[in-house]
Amino acid sequence: MKNLVSATFRNDFVTHFDGDESGNTRPRQTPGVLYSKVAPTPVKKVSLLAWSDELARELELTRPESQEEVDVLGGNQVTPSMYPYAACYAGHQFGNWAGQLGDGRAITLGELQTSTGQTWELQLKGPGLTPYSRMADGRAVLRSSLREYLMSEAMHYLGVPTTRALSLVTTGDLVMRDMFYNGNPEYEPGAIVMRVAPTFIRFGNFEILAARRENENLQKLVDWTIDHHYPHIQGENKLIDWYKEVVERTAGMIVEWMRVGFVHGVMNTDNMSILGLTIDYGPYSFVDDYDVNFTPNTTDLPGRRYAFGKQPAVAKWNLACLAGALSPLVNDDEKIQAALETYDDVYWAKYYRMMGDKLGFNEITPADINFINRFEKILKAVKLDMTIFFQLLIDLVELNEEEPNILQHFNESFYRELKEAEQEMVTTVITSYLQRIKENGSDLETTVALMRKSNPRFILRNYLLHQSIEDLEKGDSGLFQKLQEAIKDPYSNRFEEFFVKRPSWATQKAGCSMLSCSS
Ligand code: AMP
Ligand code: MG
Repeated sequence: MKNLVSATFRNDFVTHFDGDESGNTRPRQTPGVLYSKVAPTPVKKVSLLAWSDELARELELTRPESQEEVDVLGGNQVTPSMYPYAACYAGHQFGNWAGQLGDGRAITLGELQTSTGQTWELQLKGPGLTPYSRMADGRAVLRSSLREYLMSEAMHYLGVPTTRALSLVTTGDLVMRDMFYNGNPEYEPGAIVMRVAPTFIRFGNFEILAARRENENLQKLVDWTIDHHYPHIQGENKLIDWYKEVVERTAGMIVEWMRVGFVHGVMNTDNMSILGLTIDYGPYSFVDDYDVNFTPNTTDLPGRRYAFGKQPAVAKWNLACLAGALSPLVNDDEKIQAALETYDDVYWAKYYRMMGDKLGFNEITPADINFINRFEKILKAVKLDMTIFFQLLIDLVELNEEEPNILQHFNESFYRELKEAEQEMVTTVITSYLQRIKENGSDLETTVALMRKSNPRFILRNYLLHQSIEDLEKGDSGLFQKLQEAIKDPYSNRFEEFFVKRPSWATQKAGCSMLSCSS
């Protein structure tokens, strides 16, 4: 175990690739390089607000004890083995090519290698200006940092592939934000999250090199990514095999989002990890009511491009952008096109297996697929609370009653009174479900166990985040502490006080249902 100050960092990425070494933060295009060296801008006073002990253990790091160690988490202390840099990448935002973007408010400090040989990139989010900050300030506010810290850890414990968060600190500085984009900017407390992932490389890192026709750099980045992060992929067909695995991992990630009801909110290609990890937590949300058209991002409202139910299709669209970026390296475009086209089969196979698990099915037959489609139509029509509904479904299976009162049983999951036709639909579909479960190849206990591990009982709802931020800004950290515990055990019934529908006050309140990108 090492502490943050004594740990030795590797700098393999910057050693391997060309960068802009000037250290200058003037906003600019940086052709020819993959990153720019840039030091974090010191803040007034770094104070530790949260620390992830479990992740620290994986990283073989001890909890910070001195101010010097805490200062590392806020960018006030850069140790000699660190080589801080901001990565250069591009992206398609809301379907349009946006050109160079880059880490405008993220700085990687270095790579930490553990005794198992695993390397982790440690990155500060909100440490000040970089050459990619464009017109913005390179900072992050407490509300958005708390959201990223808690949610990335929550997703990890839910079993969803994600980047992690080691710490959350406040900076003692105030940051100006126009939260509602309505011309009323206000000062908010500044904060910084230390994010951790094997790499933060995105689709956009490849897109920028392709757009600039830097084919040599592009090939080098592909080789690097495969060697370091997909080392099992070798041989002549390497690039296509690797791309296929990116397709598969991305599909797998989206299926996991759909399983727990997660809506990312800003699925631009610069926010798509090359490892298939959930990355860049902004105006995300879980769905409370099962609404496929729900987008948590106010900027996404006109088109709802990133709505809950659109995520599978958008992921494929993003993968097509990646394929386009890789095509200069492929002699036969049809091959990469064919690899892209595997997406639908991969996605739907994983999706139906996942839905089958949620429903407790020991196997999936073609009739089950029909059933799942029917079942989903009802979730969509009734817009019931997804999390609560599935928990009640487990109870119903476990109770194993002769003639259950179905509507009464699911009452807690409804946000409104059901119309007669809807009542009928729910009753019919649940009746056929119970029949199907009776014919399940596994015993009741096994079925229930499968359902329990596939359906979270605790989800980090937006209104809870909103409340904990409000409390924290008033100096009360009680709810924040409690949520830090609850996220670690989402499949248990240890936190029943959170096992409630979204309260009606939160339905229209800004920050509880929808959020802006302003963070
Ligand atoms: P996002 O869609 O939030 O992932 O961000 C898109 C781009 O804007 C990325 O290049 C970010 O680094 C940049 N960005 C967002 N917020 C800020 C900020 N406060 N300061 C500098 N750059 C930012
Ligand atoms: Mg981003």
